[in-house]
Amino acid sequence: MSTDAPLTIVREGTALFEAQLNELSDAQLDEPSLLPDWSRRHVVAHVGYNALAIARLVSWAETGVETPMFESREARNAEIATGAALPAAGLRKLSMHAGMLLDSAWQHLPEEKWAAEVQTAQGRMVEASFTIWMRTREVWIHAVDLNVTAGFANIPAPVLQRILGDILESWATRGELEGVRLEVSGVDGLVFGDRDARDPLVVSGDLAALTHWASGRLGARVTCNHPVTSVAPSWL
Ligand code: ZN
Repeated sequence: MSTDAPLTIVREGTALFEAQLNELSDAQLDEPSLLPDWSRRHVVAHVGYNALAIARLVSWAETGVETPMFESREARNAEIATGAALPAAGLRKLSMHAGMLLDSAWQHLPEEKWAAEVQTAQGRMVEASFTIWMRTREVWIHAVDLNVTAGFANIPAPVLQRILGDILESWATRGELEGVRLEVSGVDGLVFGDRDARDPLVVSGDLAALTHWASGRLGARVTCNHPVTSVAPSWL
């Protein structure tokens, strides 16, 4: 299996995240991100520690020794809080070095180990190759969450489509997709969600706007036939 193309896309996302981070002064790191209750510092700490957590999965695949992403949800959250309180220079180094470490782990993973099974933080068993997608989703979305200049429109279409697919899948699993229909403007007939509902909530916009809306971030440029319930169900 070739991992060249997925690795290129994750590296582009990492580069965007780092570029957005580099546009911020140290003082601006204290300002809000797009995520509720999280400053930009929290986003940077989370993305850094997420790289280390995913690198633990790559190491698990390589050695067969179980090394989970996190000991517990509490440990994960405590790590983010601690990281967010680092001096700005330390936080920036964490971000860059953790990303490099993960990339190096992927580069050194022997061909035959990419199919080895590891466990995500949600408890799902996946092949090691899936860690590239796990990270891809993180870096692209959180580059936007830094709330600098990048928006969902900066995310490549194939990545947007897969993110939207993941979100809709999680809604479907929880029974929350019923009665919700997403119509992609400009692409004839491209519809996601509930096609059979008689009086659905219809949200329309381009792929970037729909993914923005579905991810639960405010400010998405979508139109909706039902203003009262135009807030997306939560994701993850
Ligand atoms: Zn995340």
